[in-house]
Amino acid sequence: MHVPELTSLLELTQDGLAQLLASWGQPRYRADQIWEWLYRKLAADPAGMTNLPKELRERLIVTTRADPLDLIYQQRSSDGQTIKWLFRLPDGLTIETVLMLYDERRTVCISTQAGCSMGCVFCATGQTGLARNLTSGEIVAQVLAAERRMIAPSDRQPKTDDGIPAVGSRSSSVGRRLTNIVVMGMGEPLANYDRTWAALRRISDPDAFGLGARHTTLSTVGLPQGIRKMADEPLQINLAVSLHAPNDELRTQLVPVNHRYPIAEVMAAVKDYIGRTHRRVTFEYALMNGINDTPALARQLAGLLKGVLCHVNLIPLNPIAESPYQPSSPENAAAFQKILEVNRVPATMRMRRGIDIDAGCGQLRRRVSGGG
Ligand code: SF4
Repeated sequence: MHVPELTSLLELTQDGLAQLLASWGQPRYRADQIWEWLYRKLAADPAGMTNLPKELRERLIVTTRADPLDLIYQQRSSDGQTIKWLFRLPDGLTIETVLMLYDERRTVCISTQAGCSMGCVFCATGQTGLARNLTSGEIVAQVLAAERRMIAPSDRQPKTDDGIPAVGSRSSSVGRRLTNIVVMGMGEPLANYDRTWAALRRISDPDAFGLGARHTTLSTVGLPQGIRKMADEPLQINLAVSLHAPNDELRTQLVPVNHRYPIAEVMAAVKDYIGRTHRRVTFEYALMNGINDTPALARQLAGLLKGVLCHVNLIPLNPIAESPYQPSSPENAAAFQKILEVNRVPATMRMRRGIDIDAGCGQLRRRVSGGG
């Protein structure tokens, strides 16, 4: 039997939704009502869109999908501050999303691809290869799921079978609970540029989710073309570049795409970006014991970044079990930071989050699927 394909509502622009509704003979304001349910009231199911006529709700239920994510696994760190989800997409692939609850920040880390083709040797996702790009709706849906979770934590309020409340209870006049978004989960966002940016525009659009662009950071392994394209975007999304090594020999070992885009090309694109946007760039550096954390490499990194409008985030690696890549000792990490600071390169030591859960990108998926 032929099963008709469902229209995914989160793939549509506001005009696209209006066109769909018009083709059903519905007035424009019905599209605006549905838009508000999706992005402001966080409805995951048209059944809960109570101000729509019953026949319209039924048509939406039968022919559309409001939420492409099916929660199949949830992990929570022992301190309760990091929650990691494994979602199944409509075609059966899985992706990870992480919610981090700091004192004054509530940040969601979202994925842009199912898998990744960049092959970073210390990353579980990098070992599996790329299955496909996520759609803009699948990227946006991760943010909506996290916001829903903020509004109705599943341990305090009624929830659906899959652990996520079906309909948010907050009116559009109440501010967002999420404070920050990091595009730092599975995948390389600049390798899925158009869909990622379509999602980011929807997330920051005041008529849609409405979280200001300055609260969003996109992290890339350093694709020069994509970095230059970002400089032309009107949205002021923050740029973070995962460097992890200050010379090509070591970086190519850790981040194989460096073979195609060596450090000089990445730095030239970053300097172009800074020249055009006047915005500070963050460099991510995952500290790995005995691999990239020596004083000599810290001095080399300081030389590379001297005079660049930037900030370095030092992150002791979230290790994969049985991997030769393990986090730096606290002493080595502190010494590394000190050398950067003495050389006037601002650097912050970031805490590893969710160390007792599979918080490193791709680790939960690997474990649940039996791969590690
Ligand atoms: S670290 Fe990021 S870019 Fe590298 S393989 Fe993992 S997901 Fe891809």
